[in-house]
Amino acid sequence: QRALWAAAARERAITRDGHAVAVCVNSGDTESLKAYDSRICDGIGLFRTEFLFMDQKDYPDEELQYAAYRFAAEAARGKEVIIRTLDIGGDKQLGYMDLPQENNPFLGYRAIRLCLDRKEVFRTQLRAILRASAHGNLKIMFPMIVTLEELREAKALAAQALAELDAEGLPHAERVPMGIMVETPAAVLLSDVLAREADFFSIGTNDLIQYTTATDRQNERVQYLYDPCNLSVLRSIHMVIQNGHAAGIPVGMCGEAASDDRLVPLLLAMGLDEFSVVPAQVGKVKHMVRSADFAALAPLVEELLSQREIAGAKALLERY
Ligand code: PEP
Ligand code: MG
Repeated sequence: QRALWAAAARERAITRDGHAVAVCVNSGDTESLKAYDSRICDGIGLFRTEFLFMDQKDYPDEELQYAAYRFAAEAARGKEVIIRTLDIGGDKQLGYMDLPQENNPFLGYRAIRLCLDRKEVFRTQLRAILRASAHGNLKIMFPMIVTLEELREAKALAAQALAELDAEGLPHAERVPMGIMVETPAAVLLSDVLAREADFFSIGTNDLIQYTTATDRQNERVQYLYDPCNLSVLRSIHMVIQNGHAAGIPVGMCGEAASDDRLVPLLLAMGLDEFSVVPAQVGKVKHMVRSADFAALAPLVEELLSQREIAGAKALLERY
């Protein structure tokens, strides 16, 4: 098995009947970035920038961030790198940020909410990413979006940062695509609207499962409900892919579900364009894709969507 995966890792992720998808890696901490191998994947589908902030005693300045994002851009050797803007709050806290104590941190002041409030922090990060875009194929991704207004404001701030760089004569890529994490039920239900103004979607199942099933992803007592095979989650994924494609944008997934053995064939059949997974799972996912027949998987989607019980969905997925 291991040998098969290792061999597949060096090949393209393409089904037996020629349907190609991208398989990227999730990264963020400096260590995994150092071990990054551009030959085994199609890029970095999720660069978590929190680590950069968590490793410091104070806010990382523009130069430090620029160096990190540039390093990622160059390590990818022309392949895409999706830099996610700061997703702090929730389970990730930062001493120097002086964040408020909250009763429900996962429903509170976090991610894009915090960035749109602390505009100076956001501006510094956007400038650093845009400057690094001169050195590779960078994309920007906003986490925890729940309204179109948030996306518009984030994009406007990025446009402002870009104008600043121009005024200062600092180089950047001609175009830096901007997409969103779809990780809240709000973003799922608004995905038709959001798709018209986002350049790409990336489904964040780690949070999407939590918010859709109202199940704390860290609470052991209710883990039995934290299930990617909950039909509400699978329907959500399907809806997001449909709405993304209807608007002509690619849809990826960077949550753990993207490397779940049971789900890979289904995600493939639903038309997911990009699987972004931890490096150790790249070979497995590629091997699964390469062993699959895309046309033969087609009936799986309709059959799955007509299921009512999780057990039925799991039995069906097992069969495929
Ligand atoms: C997710 O929510 O699925 C995700 C990829 O983001 P994180 O795990 O960093 O919240
Ligand atoms: Mg998340």
